[in-house]
Amino acid sequence: MQQSSHSRRQFIYQMGAASVVLPGLSVLGLQSCGGKSDKATAESASSTTTTQGSTRKLGIALVGLGQYSEGQLAPALEKTTNCRLAGIVTGTPDKAEKWKSKYNIPEKNIYDYKTFDKIADNPDIDIVYVVLPNSMHAEYVIRAAKAGKHVICEKPMAMNAEECQQMIDACKKANRQLSIGYRLHFEPHNQEMMRLGQKEAFGKINRIVAENGQVQDESSPWRLGRGVGGGGPLRDVGVYCIQGAIYTKGQIPIAVTARKHPVTDREKFSKIEEGMDFSLYFPDGTIAGCKASFNDKYNKLRAEAAKGWFELSPAYAYDGLEGKTSQGKMEIENVPQQAHQMDAFANCILQNKPTTVPGELGKRDVQLIEAIFEAARTGQKVLTKDVVQILDKSALMS
Ligand code: NAD
Repeated sequence: MQQSSHSRRQFIYQMGAASVVLPGLSVLGLQSCGGKSDKATAESASSTTTTQGSTRKLGIALVGLGQYSEGQLAPALEKTTNCRLAGIVTGTPDKAEKWKSKYNIPEKNIYDYKTFDKIADNPDIDIVYVVLPNSMHAEYVIRAAKAGKHVICEKPMAMNAEECQQMIDACKKANRQLSIGYRLHFEPHNQEMMRLGQKEAFGKINRIVAENGQVQDESSPWRLGRGVGGGGPLRDVGVYCIQGAIYTKGQIPIAVTARKHPVTDREKFSKIEEGMDFSLYFPDGTIAGCKASFNDKYNKLRAEAAKGWFELSPAYAYDGLEGKTSQGKMEIENVPQQAHQMDAFANCILQNKPTTVPGELGKRDVQLIEAIFEAARTGQKVLTKDVVQILDKSALMS
């Protein structure tokens, strides 16, 4: 993978279009560890930096053992170098038993939602990974921080910007790092989109298309707005379009417009939008046309620039990503995304460096989600100049 991606990069450089232009944004550009799937070994990192002075992997406790924890994160933690599955938090005793034997988790590292705060006394757990329905993220991130743990919070970070700020503040107060589960920042096809876009390898980008849709089943009632709620396609899959457009363009939108899709299934979509079309307006005039749906399938991130185009389709899947440019196919291998993401965060902690996907990045996207909802509600263009000015600029280092 390294070789093919490297030679592709050289090829693009030979087109004479590798200049870096980031128009004058006041950004908290993060060029920290982790942006390039840092794979430093646990041995080298921990022997220099862990308080124990030993060569141990950081322990992660997964909070919420639903589809994502079971299907993706736990298997990924068997492939990580810098961290391991050390504990679980679940309200279902049967799940606790199953995970205990499957992953060899000691009884003392198993919590339910009532005993969760006792995790503060458990030295096996360094990082709490909150994988609960979106409306529960804020409470558990804040409790994890108060327990003195570093935290990864799944996307979208929270229900509104105020919650995001409380989560950021709680982690700062506890002197612990907070990261968002933005796996695609550690995925090489998406990293290539960042690099091509932010370095203007095909010239100035004029237009971006970001579309993510899936036919949502009933397996997570909260995703359809039931129970604890907090779902809907904009928050769930639309956040990838917001992310993709921003990290490809390397700018932060100054305004948004939006329109909800017409409802075709009144029962299923009685509490949430069925889909959302929205446009992100960038400072230099570029527009990203975005689409999120729970009733249609699409999966694409495309940039059209002065001297060519580049795109991923699928762009946001766990595997099987494919990239093309106007100059040919991207020769890039797929990687275990979540393993790279968690290893990168563990490495940041071990090296005491900031993550490239901190809480502020999650807050920026939640602010944009709120603006998109407002634009859909009012039919007006909503200005977004007040969103957190933060970009992942790690692609500029490659
Ligand atoms: P899920 O519905 O499958 O799992 C949610 C878990 O929370 C379940 O184990 C459930 O028992 C538990 N839970 C505890 N209290 C609950 C309550 N009051 N109501 C409902 N559930 C409760 O959802 P999921 O697909 O695992 O998603 C969890 C989080 O992970 C969400 O924030 C989602 O956006 C995120 N996610 C991220 C990705 C990614 O690629 N980064 C992919 C999928 C999901």
